[in-house]
Amino acid sequence: MIPNSFEYKRANSVDEALGMLNDDAQILGGGHSLIPALKLRLNSPDTLIDISRIAALKEINDNEKSITVGAGVTHAQIAASKLLAGEVPMMVQAACEIGDIQVRNAGTIGGSIAHADPAADWPAVLVAANATIVIHNNNGRREVDVDQFFTGFYETALEEGEIITAIRIPKTAANKNSAYAKFKQPASRFALVGCAVAVDANSGTVSNARVGITGVSDHAYRATSVEKTLAGKALSIDSIETAVGDVTEGNMVMSDHYASEKYRSHLGTVFVKRALKKLL
Ligand SMILES: Cc1cc2nc3c(=O)[nH]c(=O)nc-3n(C[C@H](O)[C@H](O)[C@H](O)COP(=O)(O)OP(=O)(O)OC[C@H]3O[C@@H](n4cnc5c(N)ncnc54)[C@H](O)[C@@H]3O)c2cc1C
Repeated sequence: MIPNSFEYKRANSVDEALGMLNDDAQILGGGHSLIPALKLRLNSPDTLIDISRIAALKEINDNEKSITVGAGVTHAQIAASKLLAGEVPMMVQAACEIGDIQVRNAGTIGGSIAHADPAADWPAVLVAANATIVIHNNNGRREVDVDQFFTGFYETALEEGEIITAIRIPKTAANKNSAYAKFKQPASRFALVGCAVAVDANSGTVSNARVGITGVSDHAYRATSVEKTLAGKALSIDSIETAVGDVTEGNMVMSDHYASEKYRSHLGTVFVKRALKKLL
């Protein structure tokens, strides 16, 4: 449980961090995924570049049509955000359920999505929120739609030499009417299954729904079959019960010593229904 030796550097700005980021260096956010990996020697970079004191990455900003959450914003900051509670309640609900108080105080949203643990909570929530991931590299800045960001088991669209700087969440009627429901792995509290739903039903029937699921497949995905079946229906216990069938359609389902493929699929259906019922 002792990591290989490494050099520690603290960056004071994103530009400074990018300047330090060579092939043998790795970004250190809250350290709550990276440090355990170093201790297990699953990873051994020569240098860690600590970005946790960069003030610009720690802000939650209200823009006219969106909310920008800095990559260095902790889970605890999100749990306590009144702005997000009003505009994107599923973010606050998810943040409150991440790990324990130590994890929430140190872990960051940017670190979580860069790590892309298949059981992490943020990927499902950001998929449902139709978020945009803002990335900086030495050539400038680029933006990736969340639907293209999570690409596989601990894999994302992030490339070498890049830093996630922010996550942009659109202010939509669907995000305002959103919820998260999670079945926790009892020891770690990661999501054995986590379901995020964002539904615009302001006209009386569902005009737009996004459903994000984590913990079930090798990466978070949208349950598009559920979204389609909900469309045009009034949201009610009955419509939820009939609309939510197989939530794994078109996706591989993981099986391990915590949950078989069949059990995970079943939990997926149960927790999508629970998340939707929170909206009633
Ligand atoms: C006991 C325990 C329980 C946990 N429970 C949960 C849970 O219930 N739900 C959940 O979702 N998570 C859980 N986690 C994970 C936790 O949320 C982590 O904090 C998070 O996954 C990683 O964020 P971090 O800021 O700590 O990143 P780090 O550990 O510092 O970094 C993780 C990876 O991301 C890279 N990275 C970090 N920031 C950036 C950036 N801005 N740009 C590019 N790359 C970056 C690092 O180089 C590294 O590869 C748990 C962790 C622990 C230890």
